[in-house]
Amino acid sequence: MFSIHDEKKIISLLEENGHKKFRYAQIENAIYKNLITDFSTIETLPKDIRDILTENCFYNSLTLHSEKTDPEGQTTKFLFKTSDNKMIEAVIMRHLSGRNTLCVSSQAGCPMACSFCATGKLGLIRNLESHEIIDQIMWAVHHLAIEDKKLRNIVYMGMGEPLLNYIEVSDSIHIACNQKKLDLSNRRITVSTCGIAPRIIDFARDFPQVSLAISLHAPNDEARKKIMPVENTYPIDVLMDAINEYVRITNKRVFYEYIMINGVTDRLEYATQLGELLKGKLAHVNFIPYNPGEGTDSNGYLPTTKIIIKKFQNTLDQYGIPSTIRHTMGDDIDAACGQLALKEEWISLAEEQGRSIKK
Ligand code: SF4
Repeated sequence: MFSIHDEKKIISLLEENGHKKFRYAQIENAIYKNLITDFSTIETLPKDIRDILTENCFYNSLTLHSEKTDPEGQTTKFLFKTSDNKMIEAVIMRHLSGRNTLCVSSQAGCPMACSFCATGKLGLIRNLESHEIIDQIMWAVHHLAIEDKKLRNIVYMGMGEPLLNYIEVSDSIHIACNQKKLDLSNRRITVSTCGIAPRIIDFARDFPQVSLAISLHAPNDEARKKIMPVENTYPIDVLMDAINEYVRITNKRVFYEYIMINGVTDRLEYATQLGELLKGKLAHVNFIPYNPGEGTDSNGYLPTTKIIIKKFQNTLDQYGIPSTIRHTMGDDIDAACGQLALKEEWISLAEEQGRSIKK
């Protein structure tokens, strides 16, 4: 059995069974435009093709383990089980402007071990296949369709480091943006990386329209090393060289994520260092108030005060660098950034899978 999103295999299957390639366009139309989930009901196809699809393909490999929506109805968190019982999450964010964004996972767990991140405590369980990323998206598309809403944006900011699963993530972006499939705009997709420098340049060449977000979180090597082990492999000067090349190729503004942790990332001299680092660059800084969640507070981290975040913003204003403060949607359901893993259900499920969790 293979995924209905595997175009090459479906076309081979059609050809092996004596059918013309054009039939694939009808399948695509049924799956992505008409959102048909039961292959036996695709009326545009002859019965034998419907049977072939039913016998050989699955529609969605994920099963829903739990689903939570916050009381305001802005955020819905899905906890999915893959076919081999790994847990992954995706989060729908309904913005007041009417824009609907899905945050997808690219890996089960994550090897990067950022100290402020719940997912990082799981370690890498495995890379997701492209269809498993699309399965998250299709789940959201159906969920929003029931509300008469459409998915507009996708952010690769869920579990995992997307640039460490580059090929599968790339395939999923191609499917999401293909006009005959999900037809999302490249410009409405954002890939977020903790700074895998060589892949940033590949990404610029392969996806010049897709947005790039950098989890920077500290303005100097010493401070960054304390919270992000990736800094040991790709220090800030190497990262900035890659980003400069990205901007040269794409001429696109880069989004820098900066988590505000009391006494760790919010020292006032860091605001000036951040300004110096980014001055004159095509940059936008997004300050993320640290969000202490269950399992993430073992380091004793606390959120920064609003006054200090405002001071950081004022400093960046003086450098001419635009910035925003992220409104952390979904805090109360642990769907906010960095909280995508360590609830009790996660711990027990991970243990069921025979994995130990570093607490
Ligand atoms: S912040 Fe991102 S890269 Fe770092 S551990 Fe968490 S999921 Fe991985």
